[in-house]
Amino acid sequence: MSRYWSDFVRNLKPYVPGEQPSFGHVLKLNTNENPYGPSASVLEVLKHSEHDLLRLYPDPNAIILKDALADRYNVCRDEIFVGNGSDEVLAHAFHALLKHDRPVRFPDITYGFYPVYCDLYGIPYEPIPLSGSMEIELDRYFIPSGGVVLPNPNAPTGIALPLKEIERLLERQRECVVVIDEAYVDFGAESAVALTRKFQNLLVVQTFSKSRSLAGLRVGFAIGHPDLIDALNRVKNSFNSYPVGRLSLLAAVAALEDGDHFDRTRQMIVDSREHLAGSLAKLGFVVLPSLANFLFIAHPSVRADALDAHLRSRQILVRHFSIPRADQFLRVTVGTDDQCRSLMNALEDIFRSKSL
Ligand SMILES: *Cc1c(COP(=O)(O)O)cnc(C)c1O
Repeated sequence: MSRYWSDFVRNLKPYVPGEQPSFGHVLKLNTNENPYGPSASVLEVLKHSEHDLLRLYPDPNAIILKDALADRYNVCRDEIFVGNGSDEVLAHAFHALLKHDRPVRFPDITYGFYPVYCDLYGIPYEPIPLSGSMEIELDRYFIPSGGVVLPNPNAPTGIALPLKEIERLLERQRECVVVIDEAYVDFGAESAVALTRKFQNLLVVQTFSKSRSLAGLRVGFAIGHPDLIDALNRVKNSFNSYPVGRLSLLAAVAALEDGDHFDRTRQMIVDSREHLAGSLAKLGFVVLPSLANFLFIAHPSVRADALDAHLRSRQILVRHFSIPRADQFLRVTVGTDDQCRSLMNALEDIFRSKSL
């Protein structure tokens, strides 16, 4: 704190990202990164970068990436917005589309950045509680709102809504923008992209960070009606004209082009997830039914913070959230089968040693 700070900054409660340790030997299952890394063609592109690629500003309209996305998702260039990670895309969406007199609605247990963006931009919000089984109760969102934001699958629960349910929400909620955050959709849930033609108030947000293994690159995008995209462009062009760098544009295009790598690695993660869920259940864990690349787990007889500390002492990082109703859960990223086995060995050892 300093006397130079504005009152506004003094009162901010920033999002706390998962730890990115700088030291060597940790099993990092805390931020839902992809264990497999990107397509070899992405690395090829980065290797062959030459000096004009760095000397020159990138295309402010990111046309090469928008065209590759348009091709992949069967939409037009003017239905796409790209940004520096989907966090930035979401921030612009809150600012450009969700700031109204009525409160924005999102689940009480969800991605922690939503309330942070509301506070940053002075947007009223009212979280809606998940059910006792941690599910989104859609009917509770059929009320006058400044906007609705739902991750599908939800994070950190991993539970997904079927597309039919998203459509039912859109049929009832035409007065405000509905943002579906599909950060994890490629691991088994149904995407709402096809509904953007039917509902002009639907914005679907996705990222290259998880299923395409490019968290370090920072590329995210949104698909929706051109009027919504226009609003995002107005905010973006009032903030940073060049949010996606040249290397990132080329690498993201290369990632999109390698469909085989994408399909193979996400299937491996889905298979490992199901196997890990079974092993955890055998150890007595409650495992929420996840369609993401992570599992949200609780053990009826062990405190989550204690378990988190025990794993940490064994160089295994998972994520514990000190938030009401979810503080007895741990969020565990699905790694390779080897990594899942190391996690299970550590857990079995911890339970055996009765040090809890
Ligand atoms: C990881 C994540 C994002 C942000 O991803 P970027 O790396 O900023 O693209 C957005 N929403 C949810 C729910 C996430 O888990």
